[in-house]
Amino acid sequence: MKVNKAEFIISNSDVKKCPAEILPEYAFIGRSNVGKSSLINMLTGRKALAKVSGKPGKTQLINHFKINDNWFLVDLPGYGYAKVSKSTKGIFQKFITEYFEKREQLVCGFVLIDVRLEPQKIDVEFMSYLGNAGVPFCIIFTKADKLTKSKAMQNIAAYKKVLLAGDWEEFPTYFLTSSASGEGQDEVLQFINDVNTD
Ligand code: GDP
Repeated sequence: MKVNKAEFIISNSDVKKCPAEILPEYAFIGRSNVGKSSLINMLTGRKALAKVSGKPGKTQLINHFKINDNWFLVDLPGYGYAKVSKSTKGIFQKFITEYFEKREQLVCGFVLIDVRLEPQKIDVEFMSYLGNAGVPFCIIFTKADKLTKSKAMQNIAAYKKVLLAGDWEEFPTYFLTSSASGEGQDEVLQFINDVNTD
């Protein structure tokens, strides 16, 4: 799929105010600074559709973008920055969990993970939350240009080990991407296109 049109539609923190239009929706989420804005810009071929910021924790809204007039790309707030909380509920803001639990148009979530890191508790917790809530999701490993392919595969294997040691029967579909090199762009867009045309 080629992105010919990418329009910002609305930002808000209320799931009820998300666009009423029924289009398949794909939501991007991850820890602050994981490279989510850069990835959204890379996927859509736009320099500044999502705001890339050096300051983590900036985007605290649900942002809807309409792509090619036929699907929504949703940029969700980064989690896990400067928030110390004992419960998962407290870490993931209520409107984020409401979004995943109530947004009927949601087809698939993309959980972004920095491929340089060992499995992080908060990411594993978030994926467990999605799994338990029955939300379909894929994993997008980011910043692949920052390490060798073999190291990246080692880190992905570590995630597989952690998730499969839990209740998981299979590892989610995953992508290895780099916003710096464009790696993974075709694969992610192809996946969305395939799901949309199924
Ligand atoms: P967000 O907070 O998740 O939206 O993350 P940003 O997209 O703002 O990126 C955070 C920082 O990581 C910025 O300094 C980006 O330039 C950098 N970054 C993001 N993606 C990549 C990538 O694929 N490769 C490299 N080398 N740097 C990246």
